[in-house]
Amino acid sequence: MIGSGHGIGQDGIEDMAIVMESSYSIDASANLLRLKVWGELTAESLMELLNQARADPEYVPGMHAVADYREAYGNWDYSEIQRLRDYLVHIAVPCEVRWAAIVKPGNLAAAGHVLILISEAVGSDIRMRLFEEPAAALRWARGEDLPKANMSHEFLNGRVQVCTGDITALRVDAIVNAANSSLLGGSGVDGAIHRRGGGEILQACRELRATSYPQGLPPGEAVLTTAGNLPARYVIHTVGPIWGRDQHADALLASCYKKSIALAANHALRSVAFPAISTGAYGYPKDEAAVVASTAIKEALSQADTIERVSLVFFSDADRDVFLANQRF
Ligand code: ADP
Repeated sequence: MIGSGHGIGQDGIEDMAIVMESSYSIDASANLLRLKVWGELTAESLMELLNQARADPEYVPGMHAVADYREAYGNWDYSEIQRLRDYLVHIAVPCEVRWAAIVKPGNLAAAGHVLILISEAVGSDIRMRLFEEPAAALRWARGEDLPKANMSHEFLNGRVQVCTGDITALRVDAIVNAANSSLLGGSGVDGAIHRRGGGEILQACRELRATSYPQGLPPGEAVLTTAGNLPARYVIHTVGPIWGRDQHADALLASCYKKSIALAANHALRSVAFPAISTGAYGYPKDEAAVVASTAIKEALSQADTIERVSLVFFSDADRDVFLANQRF
């Protein structure tokens, strides 16, 4: 049986001696999920344990994890590995999540084979590493070897994550495109999304132009299309205000974030990644955009319970730091 805690029942110590069951515990202050796996290990039993942990109110998507498999055994064939891989892809969040696996001494090679197959398929979102020594596993999972600048920054109990990177590489439910009104592609992040996503996105945008938006998409509005070849499932296109041209630029920029989040929630999406809308070619001052974006996201998330994770992806550390210094979460 699988459960939370340490296998110690309400009535005390007796259980501890005889019941050896897989269990999890969450250390919210350390952003850490700990798993202890006893007995036969199957993809199914591991997914069940992870699902229980994810349903725990203390759980935050994107937590690092340490899984102790020293008391577990299992014979994994390829289909088993595939099942776990699909599950991990499904729950993966952008930005580095570290999962340390502790295995029996001498067992590194066998476990390593499984791990390599899974991590290659999951891609860069979850990093897995094997350890024989629990303390080393814990240190690594906590990211204690990382320089501070690489640490992710989280707000609203982990529902918002701020990071640096290329948004087109993210495996999230939806990435947001800082589009222009034509919806037919442009420079900056828009160009990168169409290049990497392929013609399917452009085709979907053309259809929107031919049907719902013959005059183009007005600033502050958001629409959803396929993500073509991108790792994300959908692209949400929103048109930011042009600084110095559009009146009420702050309200329009806020609307981009709010309508994108509402659209994602209406499509039952759980993870959304935003670039810094309007702060490139459209010239919106980055410090002021940080105030507007964070305030709008906070408000939108208060009305979109199903959205688990909003990632704010900056193209440079400098842009990220301006955001961090000015945000109002
Ligand atoms: P806008 O026209 O709305 O200003 P831009 O695409 O010009 O949109 O710029 C928006 C922001 O996106 C800028 O801060 C830019 O540095 C950033 N950006 C450009 N390419 C990417 C990318 N591939 N991933 C994440 N952010 C990007």
